[in-house]
Amino acid sequence: MSGNAWILGPDRLGHSVLVQDGVVTWQGQGAVPGSPKLEQLACPNSAIRYGHVNAHTHLYSGLVPYGIPPLAQQPDEFVGILQQLWWKLDRALDAELLSIAAEVAVADALMCGTTLLVDHHESPNFIAGSLDVIADACQKLGVRACLSYGATERNGGRDEAEAGLAESQRFYKERGHTLLLSTAFGLHAGFTASNLTISRAGRLARQVGRPVHVHVAEALSDAQDARERGFAGALDRLCRLGAVPQRSVLAHAIHLRPEERARIAAHGACAVQNPRSNLGNRVGYPLALQRLSHVALGSDGYVANMEEEVRCAQQQGALHGEPPQLALERLERGHQLGYDLMNLPDSPPLWLRKPADLAAMTDNGALHVLVDGRLVVRDGKLLGADLDTLRQRASQAAARLHLKMAQL
Ligand SMILES: [Zn+2]
Repeated sequence: MSGNAWILGPDRLGHSVLVQDGVVTWQGQGAVPGSPKLEQLACPNSAIRYGHVNAHTHLYSGLVPYGIPPLAQQPDEFVGILQQLWWKLDRALDAELLSIAAEVAVADALMCGTTLLVDHHESPNFIAGSLDVIADACQKLGVRACLSYGATERNGGRDEAEAGLAESQRFYKERGHTLLLSTAFGLHAGFTASNLTISRAGRLARQVGRPVHVHVAEALSDAQDARERGFAGALDRLCRLGAVPQRSVLAHAIHLRPEERARIAAHGACAVQNPRSNLGNRVGYPLALQRLSHVALGSDGYVANMEEEVRCAQQQGALHGEPPQLALERLERGHQLGYDLMNLPDSPPLWLRKPADLAAMTDNGALHVLVDGRLVVRDGKLLGADLDTLRQRASQAAARLHLKMAQL
């Protein structure tokens, strides 16, 4: 934990927070007891809250809002969207494009008061070292992140899968075992991996006590693929191949059978609903998760504005008879998942001794943001990089990326 100490507040409700050694040591109304001589970050017109957790995202898609046009014709099938957009984008990524994409996505997340990202990465033509590029962006700007490389066989067969698993393994050993950067063993999705790759991912993750991060039953086709291979569904396949260790992150989990749904909690895993992405890709609504508490919210590559995800979840949930509270509970559950993934202590009393991942939010975005006690946004200004310059570089990089995608 860092040695920085701050008084954050008072906010518009008179709430202040004392941060010392990376954790919250006092919070309440009025003056901080003992009047410690610390720098005070005033929070007029804002509300202090915990930083949000984005429980499933793809920082590699950070350039999309900066100049990758949507498909002229949206394919009917989900796999068509993958083939025509995302699987071209990931193949076009090189180290420089990935670096700018990750930086701008992290910057956008912090400016939305999102302080912990659970990332799932793929760049098939730049696998070895790719997680370092993302980690550098996270460290530079100061976000907390759990990184994984999503192993797949869809471009280069088993060799590609092994390279992906090796990247997660390498990253875990070299950098990804701290309170600010951690590692999951990624798999793209069952339908682009053999049984051997799936069981290898599970074994490697268990060897070091880490979870798996994988897309599960996002579209019906993933569930059907698993059934054709002799399993009850996509999650049944992962479970039976030993690829759902404790704390595993199961993105989407839309097309599950009831007996599969029960396994999420039984395995100590967490499903992640991605409301805007699911709506955009027209893959269905995760009704199967309705009565499950092990569900967090992710943005699946959209800008990490978790309040937008909550709004979308509430709108979509209302159409399925779900109460608005459910989306808020899922946002909150992300903290539990995030702490688990980062091996952070989660103490029972609200606020006290919690990691100082805090955001003072105005109606127009973040005023101040702290991560692990480090000030990363101050007075509405990102501290780790110049945001305007970064966004200009992102626009230029998006043009180059789009050109490369057109040539694939
Ligand atoms: Zn995803």
